Amino acid sequence: MDHFTYRDGVLCAEDVPLSQIAEAVGTPFYCYSTATLEHHYKVFADALSGLDATVCYAVKANPNIAVISTLARLGAGADVVSGGELKRAMAAGVPPEKIVFSGVGKTRDELAQAIASGVMQINVESEPELQALNDVAMEAGVKAPVALRINPDIDAKTHAKISTGKSENKFGIEWTRAHAVYSRAAKMPGIDITGVAVHIGSQLTDLQPFHDAFRRLRDLVAMLRADGLPIRRLDLGGGLGIPYDGEPTPGPAEYAAVVRDTVADLGCSLVFEPGRMIVGNAGVMVSRIIYVKEGATRTFLIIDAAMNDLMRPSLYDAYHAIVPVSEPAGNAPQKPVDVVGPVCETGDTFCRQRPMPPVAAGDLLALRTAGAYGAAMASTYNTRPLLPEVLVSGKAFSLVRKRVEVEDIIAMDRLPAWISPAG
Ligand SMILES: *Cc1c(COP(=O)(O)O)cnc(C)c1O
Repeated sequence: MDHFTYRDGVLCAEDVPLSQIAEAVGTPFYCYSTATLEHHYKVFADALSGLDATVCYAVKANPNIAVISTLARLGAGADVVSGGELKRAMAAGVPPEKIVFSGVGKTRDELAQAIASGVMQINVESEPELQALNDVAMEAGVKAPVALRINPDIDAKTHAKISTGKSENKFGIEWTRAHAVYSRAAKMPGIDITGVAVHIGSQLTDLQPFHDAFRRLRDLVAMLRADGLPIRRLDLGGGLGIPYDGEPTPGPAEYAAVVRDTVADLGCSLVFEPGRMIVGNAGVMVSRIIYVKEGATRTFLIIDAAMNDLMRPSLYDAYHAIVPVSEPAGNAPQKPVDVVGPVCETGDTFCRQRPMPPVAAGDLLALRTAGAYGAAMASTYNTRPLLPEVLVSGKAFSLVRKRVEVEDIIAMDRLPAWISPAG
């Protein structure tokens, strides 16, 4: 469910025509819908009602402060994976006691920052990190609240680049080692063990891997408790997939049923880290067609957005629905096209041989379901401006990130002393 619909022949974000935003901020741009963000957060939180649950929005999916604040106002916590994201979450008003710090390579500085900020929990992913955190906590004279992230060796059945719960993945402590590492952690003066964490991957559209991972977690909790280790909190990670192509996927209610089925009776408080599920279809990327190029074997729509603006298609072969902002006639003939960007790489392709209604140079296109891992992954490759972000609420819209212009990008470079500036 989202709030991007055609009204009077124009695709709107809530009550605002995307063409109006294009006039105001130029193209390409990202646009997010407040009502959609709020809807998804509420559906997810409601599915967990009755459970002792904290929903910590995974900031990396869309780190815009306006997005985080929108969710924080509804009660969301945050899951962060860097010192930078921790600062963002706090700047957006997320209380530190609702922040989880995850990530496979946290530096000592980041661990110290997390401790000083008073975060709810630090998820430790290796023995060297556990040792480092113990040292840093002792220097600070505190006990750090820690969950060990366990790698349950479960195939998430998702794209290889976003699968994180198999033993060959870099994430987490092998579940077969978990018992030994917990015993070690229990003796460390700077460590306060709060619980166990898992996150097996992203864009899961099959619930069985969640089920298997949570069962494994359950067995582990029983084993740790039998040894007198107090496990009070389970962090079940994120990863619930969303429908990019309209295919039905399991929703929060079905996911919550798996949680109830596997770990709800353990007497633990639960933490969830949804990212994509909350923001994915709350965003679109809008771009203008520069040229329609009739190639020898196919038609290319060359648009003013490229792989640097939305990486998912080139990185994961991901599908994004692409629709004209001006509503096509219901009986418009469809013709296969390739939608591509201007970047000098063949991978800079948003879709191949996709049936589309007739469009022309100058028309606006919306790439849907672009709210997660879109702007977050954008770069200035090819010295292209970093695209702006707009948040809509009802009839209002606001620029929530300005375009980073070419001048701003070039101004970051410096010439060394041995090269005199040209001219
Ligand atoms: C990326 C990530 C998430 C969010 O994943 P989604 O698929 O966006 O829900 C949650 N937890 C951790 C540890 C992550 O790395």
